[in-house]
Amino acid sequence: MFSSFRNFGLFSLGFFLAGLMAIEGEAKPKGDLKMRSVGISYLDCHFHLYDSLQKNIFKYAETGYNEVRSSEQWCSFLEKNGFRVTRGIAGLPTAFVAEYGSGRPVIGMMAEYDALRGMSQDTVPYEKPLVSGQPGHGCGHNLLGTGSVSGAVAVSKWLAQGHSGTIRIFGCPAEEGGGGKAYMVRGHCFDGLDAMLDWHPDTRNTVNTQSGLADVQVRFTFHGKASHASGAPEKGRSALDAVEVFDYMMNMMREHVPQTSRIHYIITDGGKAPNVVPETAQVLYYFRSPDRKIVQDILSRALKAAEGAAMGTGTSFDHEIVSGNYERLENDAMAELIGRNLQLAGGVRYDARESAFAAELMRNSGIRDTSVLRMARNVAPPTAEGYEAYVSSDVGNVTWEVPTGSFRYACFIPGGNGHSWQQTASGGTTIGTKGALGAAKVLYLSAYDLFTNPELIVEARREFLEKRGPDFVFEPLMGNRNPPFDYCRP
Ligand SMILES: [Zn+2]
Repeated sequence: MFSSFRNFGLFSLGFFLAGLMAIEGEAKPKGDLKMRSVGISYLDCHFHLYDSLQKNIFKYAETGYNEVRSSEQWCSFLEKNGFRVTRGIAGLPTAFVAEYGSGRPVIGMMAEYDALRGMSQDTVPYEKPLVSGQPGHGCGHNLLGTGSVSGAVAVSKWLAQGHSGTIRIFGCPAEEGGGGKAYMVRGHCFDGLDAMLDWHPDTRNTVNTQSGLADVQVRFTFHGKASHASGAPEKGRSALDAVEVFDYMMNMMREHVPQTSRIHYIITDGGKAPNVVPETAQVLYYFRSPDRKIVQDILSRALKAAEGAAMGTGTSFDHEIVSGNYERLENDAMAELIGRNLQLAGGVRYDARESAFAAELMRNSGIRDTSVLRMARNVAPPTAEGYEAYVSSDVGNVTWEVPTGSFRYACFIPGGNGHSWQQTASGGTTIGTKGALGAAKVLYLSAYDLFTNPELIVEARREFLEKRGPDFVFEPLMGNRNPPFDYCRP
């Protein structure tokens, strides 16, 4: 729905120039304003194009490491726009890097495009899967890729006018649990960058200044001995018993880990039938903390608990670290730069049809107070607590390799939590497209500042090196394992 587009609200070029002059007064010569508007007017003129591209990815809805069509759409689109594209970097078939321009500085942006299992949802303001049980874009990665690709193309339009510098956009697969960027850092994909610009769809517009949580995802498999559960139970050794005892110990452990830690699990295999003593059983855990050393400590304690569970139940076990991500290394200089440009770009305004869709979606979600919609129009100050403080992302790995600035931009109608049908539904309409292109403007403006003011890069790098420390070496939390290409397969 919402195929037409009339009002891009605060984003129009006239508004942009007026806002820029209001913020910067007479400080900038008129030539600079004109140059800076090159990418903004490109984005204003290509709404329909990016609206259809984001909707393609929305329909493809491919899960982590299976994003063949989504990744190829962006590769061929970027090639058509003059970028030099390398597919399949870091041994990941659906990862890519695309580059435009030459020389320093080299500024990076990241696109994601993986969907979530079981989140299929139509673009309607009530819960209705497109295809029941199938994947859907509950985290808005259809928009994340669109915002970053369009932002990078906007930068290329400016570079094409004879400016020096390089824009590099990275196609990053499997953010949802596959930790694609950790493999890309391990594979040195981000070497040679001066700064990285990162964003994520949200219900608000705000700079991200939190470290979030480092995490590891670990699969524990217990091996017992099958037997008739009634006829010969004494001959069996239950792998499910081991999982239960292990989970019990981990639940006891919660009291004795730092309060900001998170431990959660699902039993992915609890046996096949009650009348068969389970020969194998499996449980999948996440361990998280704002400090990756605590994550590693919890993991080593969990391994001892698993050993104890196996010993007490006459079983054995093995474990597999599926993915691992660092907490974010925040960079104040980058956050300040992004905050300024977020103010400049402003938020989104919805037209009558989008507003009606939003009102109905919120009504169907039990939200009576529609004033929360104003969050999409305004720019909110960064907060120290809340949702972002307790989530993890594979972007964390990247922030330890290159000074990174991150922000959130309104692409969803408030209603559900993250990874909900509400977010999927609104992200697949022009509401999502407006958010993606609003984010693209923040990315473009921030890149423009980095290209034209080398001092910004010097300051961001100085802070980055100081915070990271002189002896830093990237040690991937998932170790030397191969990428878990099949982690999304049933
Ligand atoms: Zn996400």
